[in-house]
Amino acid sequence: MVNKLSNDVLNELISQVVRKDAVPLVNLIRGKKNVSEIKIAEKLKLTVNQVRSMLYGLSAQALVTSIRRKDKKKGWYVYFWNLDENAAFKLKEAVNVKKLKELKDQLKLEEKVSYFVCPDECERISNDDALECGYKCPECGKLMMQESNISRIIKIKEEIKKIETELAQYRLEVQKELEKKVKKIKKKAPKKVKKKIRKFIKRIFKGKKNKR
Ligand SMILES: [Zn+2]
Repeated sequence: MVNKLSNDVLNELISQVVRKDAVPLVNLIRGKKNVSEIKIAEKLKLTVNQVRSMLYGLSAQALVTSIRRKDKKKGWYVYFWNLDENAAFKLKEAVNVKKLKELKDQLKLEEKVSYFVCPDECERISNDDALECGYKCPECGKLMMQESNISRIIKIKEEIKKIETELAQYRLEVQKELEKKVKKIKKKAPKKVKKKIRKFIKRIFKGKKNKR
C-alpha cells in the first residue's frame, strides 16, 4: 500500500525539484513496472543519453528506482525504471515543510522591518536609515512615507495557510494508510499464527517420533 500524489501535484513537484522536461517521462513510467530506458527514449523521441540524464536527476531525489539486465544478444546492460510513489509523496511533504519555514521567516521579517519611500520614488530605505535622516529623502529632501507591506503580508499568510492545509491533508492520508495496514495485519494474523502453530506442533511431534 502506498500514498500517491495526484497527477497535478506530482507534475508540479517534478518541475520544481528536478526539471520541467522530466514531467512527460514521469507520466510515462507512472503506474507501469520496469520500463526500459530504450522504450522511454522511443516513446519520448529522445536519445537514450537524454533520457538517462533525466532519470539520474530523478534518481538523485530518490524518485525512481532501477534494475539492470544484460541484453544477451548485444552484451550490454539495459536499465529498467520504476517510479517510487511513496518517495514522491514524502518528498512533497519535505518540500512543503521547507517552504513553510521560509514563508514564516519572511513573514517575521516583513512584520518587523518597515520601509520608507520618497513620494518621488528616489529612495526606499529601512526604518533605521529613515530615522537617521529625519525621515527626509536623502536625494530630494521631501518627507518620506512609510511603505505599506500589508498586501505582501496578506499574500504570505495566504500561502502559509495553503501549505498548512496541504500538510494536514498529507498527514491524514498517511494515517489512513497506516490504519488500513493495521486492519489488514489484524485480519491476517490469526490465520497465519494458527498455521505457524500447527506447523510448529507438527515438527515437534515428528521430531519426537523420529527420536523414538
Ligand atoms: Zn526623493
